[in-house]
Amino acid sequence: MVKKYFTVGPSQIYPKLPMILNNAVKQDILSLSHRGSEFKKIYGQTSDRLKLLLRIPKDYQVLFVSSALEAMERTIQGLVEKRSFHLITGAFGKSWAKIAIQLGKEVETLEVDPNIEVKIDEIKIPKNSELICITQNETSLGVYLPEKKIEELRKKNPGKILAVDIVSSVPYVNLNFKYIDVAFFSVQKGFGLPAGLGVIIISPRALEKIEELFKKGLNTGSYHSLKNLFSKALEFQTPETPNVLTIYLLNEVLKDMLKIGIKKIRQQTDKKAAVLYNFFENHKNYSPFIKIKKFQSKTTLVIDVNGNSEKLRKKLSKKGFVIASGYGDNKQNHIRIANFPTQTLKDIRKMLKYLV
Ligand SMILES: *Cc1c(COP(=O)(O)O)cnc(C)c1O
Repeated sequence: MVKKYFTVGPSQIYPKLPMILNNAVKQDILSLSHRGSEFKKIYGQTSDRLKLLLRIPKDYQVLFVSSALEAMERTIQGLVEKRSFHLITGAFGKSWAKIAIQLGKEVETLEVDPNIEVKIDEIKIPKNSELICITQNETSLGVYLPEKKIEELRKKNPGKILAVDIVSSVPYVNLNFKYIDVAFFSVQKGFGLPAGLGVIIISPRALEKIEELFKKGLNTGSYHSLKNLFSKALEFQTPETPNVLTIYLLNEVLKDMLKIGIKKIRQQTDKKAAVLYNFFENHKNYSPFIKIKKFQSKTTLVIDVNGNSEKLRKKLSKKGFVIASGYGDNKQNHIRIANFPTQTLKDIRKMLKYLV
């Protein structure tokens, strides 16, 4: 049976991926030297296409790491001398704060209940925090923090560096990068690729801060420090032998997405999300965990199913649909459903038939 993956990552693969993989083998990408001109060309194209798709300014840099968790660590290491501030709406935000603690930083956290109206842009950030860390789309509970509110928060705190985790909302999320200093994601969610590649997008302002900390003689990391990653990236190189194959795959998927157009991809996501939310809002036993509309994630939906998570997952699995359980303590009470560009409306409708 062909399975359809509605899991929140790894997820349903990009439809053209088998063909792209095949081409990669044919073109000897698997034996490609990462020091040669062909790799540099792939890195450069990937960077350009990502900037084009997400409207990232030209003077920002695109860096490759191994995962989003690594990106969290690198961001703290490279951009925080003493204090970081973390806005937390769930488990991934907590992980980021934990990493900062493990790296010996003074960590200030604000945990907010995503079912209570919070004025994100009016949050008071302690004066001495250097970095604001925000999980824009919290995959554990299906929380989406509106782009405009995050940008407002940065405008009100002009002296601080703002870093956002966009792992499970990219490429849907529509940020004005003018107000974003660091954004990162891994590719096994919204891009429908195999895991093992993280991407960090970094602003010139953040690069200045990295340089400043480095000059102070602080320990900002070793081979994968943001400084080292950046200086190599200037020549489309990486410090280590990178995940060349997945960079190649990302480049090809970006090419395809540019052909489709980001506007259309976002519209389709909105349309599918409306079908999903409408179904669960009118269901007699199940309901979206997040009640406040503007905080409901369009890309990772969390549904409260009253302890029936395992039962439902087994039932759907028999029909060929794989969905995710709740996260952590919510394992039994929630199901999580991905609505990335790779999940089709047709498959969503088919799956929902088994949930009535
Ligand atoms: C999946 C996820 C991560 C972790 O990604 P890895 O690639 O496993 O490191 C981090 N943040 C969010 C919001 C996620 O959904």
